[in-house]
Amino acid sequence: MPVPAYDPNNVFARILRDEIPSQRVYEDAEFVAFRDIAPAAPVHILVIPRGVPPVSAAAATEADAPMLGRLLLTGARVASEQGLVEGGYRLVINSGDHAGQTVHHLHLHVLGGAPLGPVA
Ligand code: 5GP
Repeated sequence: MPVPAYDPNNVFARILRDEIPSQRVYEDAEFVAFRDIAPAAPVHILVIPRGVPPVSAAAATEADAPMLGRLLLTGARVASEQGLVEGGYRLVINSGDHAGQTVHHLHLHVLGGAPLGPVA
């Protein structure tokens, strides 16, 4: 499937508008972080940009480079605040069908709290 257009009614856009409740753990002017509804690890948090970001890594351009850097740093900050630094954690961005991407609003998974197994 080609990279889809941004859907302003995707679930994360609705979470940003508080149309769908979420358990927020962090937010600033650029990003919101909240607990995944179907956690794949003891700690599973999603960090999403506010506004209309690229739908995926595949849709990102050079202009998104500063935001992508800050997204990774925000994931690391959230991981630290969640007490994951000592045990370690994983930051994941799924892009497209083979990665199992289901929400087409760029997002970073922060996973930790127990050994996570192989990366793929
Ligand atoms: P993806 O597979 O696109 O990389 O990740 C999307 C994630 O969003 C999945 O891990 C899924 O569990 C999570 N998710 C989907 N709908 C909701 C929701 O309504 N609330 C929350 N908190 N997470 C959701």
